[in-house]
Amino acid sequence: MPETFKVELDTPVYKGSVSCNTGLFINGKFVDAVEGGTIDVINPSTGKLLTKVAAATSKDVDIAVAAAKKAYKTSWGLKVPGAQRGELLMKLATLLEANIDEFAALECLNVGKPWSESRGFDMKLTLQTLKYYAGWADKVHGHTIEKLAYTRHEPYGVVGQIVPWNYPLTMVSWKIGPALATGNVVVLKPSEITPLTALKFASLVQEAGFPPGVVNIIPGYGATAGAAISMHPDIRKIAFTGSTLTGRKIQEASAKSNLKVVTLELGGKSPNIIFDDADLDQAVKWAAIGIFSNSGQVCTAGSRIYVQEGVYDAFIKAFSEAAAGLNTKTGDPFSEGTIHGPVVSQTQFDRVMSHIDAAKAEGAIPFIGGERHSLTEGFFVKPTIFTNCTPDMKIVQEEVFGPVAAVVKFKTEDEVIEMANDTNYGLACAVFTENVSRAVRVSNALEAGMAWVNCNITTEYNVPFGGYKQSGYGRELGAYAIDTYTQVKAVHINVGLKI
Ligand code: NAD
Repeated sequence: MPETFKVELDTPVYKGSVSCNTGLFINGKFVDAVEGGTIDVINPSTGKLLTKVAAATSKDVDIAVAAAKKAYKTSWGLKVPGAQRGELLMKLATLLEANIDEFAALECLNVGKPWSESRGFDMKLTLQTLKYYAGWADKVHGHTIEKLAYTRHEPYGVVGQIVPWNYPLTMVSWKIGPALATGNVVVLKPSEITPLTALKFASLVQEAGFPPGVVNIIPGYGATAGAAISMHPDIRKIAFTGSTLTGRKIQEASAKSNLKVVTLELGGKSPNIIFDDADLDQAVKWAAIGIFSNSGQVCTAGSRIYVQEGVYDAFIKAFSEAAAGLNTKTGDPFSEGTIHGPVVSQTQFDRVMSHIDAAKAEGAIPFIGGERHSLTEGFFVKPTIFTNCTPDMKIVQEEVFGPVAAVVKFKTEDEVIEMANDTNYGLACAVFTENVSRAVRVSNALEAGMAWVNCNITTEYNVPFGGYKQSGYGRELGAYAIDTYTQVKAVHINVGLKI
């Protein structure tokens, strides 16, 4: 029998216990992994072990998929009216709302997110997403076409969902919400680094009364459990969020197995363009939010900042002051004033530091930061701004996924559009200008799935989210996600034609 992880917290922002089961959630129950493997779960603020959770392998994936397949045929899918699915989803959202502080605290422990982000952003968006898709469940329908045909938007059946560690519970809601609303059943693998809130969420699935097998949540490593999901012949669709490298493997696995439908939300290197005529104070604040939120571990992070020459010096001065301010608010996620937390793991810390070293070696100047924070425990990186960057440098081309901005000076609109589009990624972009024609012209010209004008990395549950180019395809959130979880059947009715 899997154990329960439980700790008592007495912090300035949260007092009480946090707990979750440490097993695999399959067919409505928590179970040990067949092969008995476990994963060490680390607190990134201290570098110390929090707990161990079960590690799924292909054997557990097979069991979870079989349970899901049975549930789809007997107690979900086309058997259950949308309104009933919506009610269960709303019940799940209500249960989450009743326990939301505990979920926020668990996310702080496992990801190192400051309480203000975890409680103030992640949990809010997670809840909004679940409620939004609960409302969609009885509104999924096709069209009638003359003579007579009609379309039905039907579920795929068993969908595999693989999510990363930067927004663990929020990603669960983005995946599970539209999948269940449209009648699919789910085998979801959280990141091996951050499985705790997904496991706690599984208990709510149980409590809400979903039929066993409709939702299966199985922590496991990517190369074993993730690969088994990608190859499974009974999984019809796979929704993935993570790195471009893994996305490519998942697409290959789909081609080699059963041509599953694949949607991919991958990495980015999003340009943030600040023109001379921008409201500079606002541009600086949004630039800081764009690259330093969640310690830069945001796929849409505005990590390439292009600043027009007329405001370059003023921008750098104010932006580096903002970074210095954050540096003084770095530390324990449970302290009231903390805004900047650690990166998620030793591996991620090493990855970020190697990007910083490469940037220095290529001649970029660490105007501020560029080193480990003085805190002795945990994986803290100072908010970092590189200047003197040129378009060919790695720091301008490659995703760091840490609190590291590369600033590039530009002269003209045409030049900056060219530079901004010179990347394999195409997730998002931001434009700061008070000239509305320029705002529209430039945001239209940028090759990205999301464009922000005079703001940055804002994400709404009802607005589509996803990328161009090697940042992936398919859209999450809003009505667009409903389309990615349904397939269209055209039904032709003979209304009197005799042959
Ligand atoms: P990752 O690709 O290493 O891991 C993501 C998930 O994939 C994890 O659950 C992991 O276990 C699994 N995985 C790893 N190898 C696998 C394999 N061979 N087969 C199947 N699954 C496998 O990414 P990460 O390091 O967890 O997350 C960071 C990356 O995610 C960044 O590149 C970031 O840009 C991207 N990301 C994108 C979005 C988006 O919506 N576009 C959102 C968040 C993060």
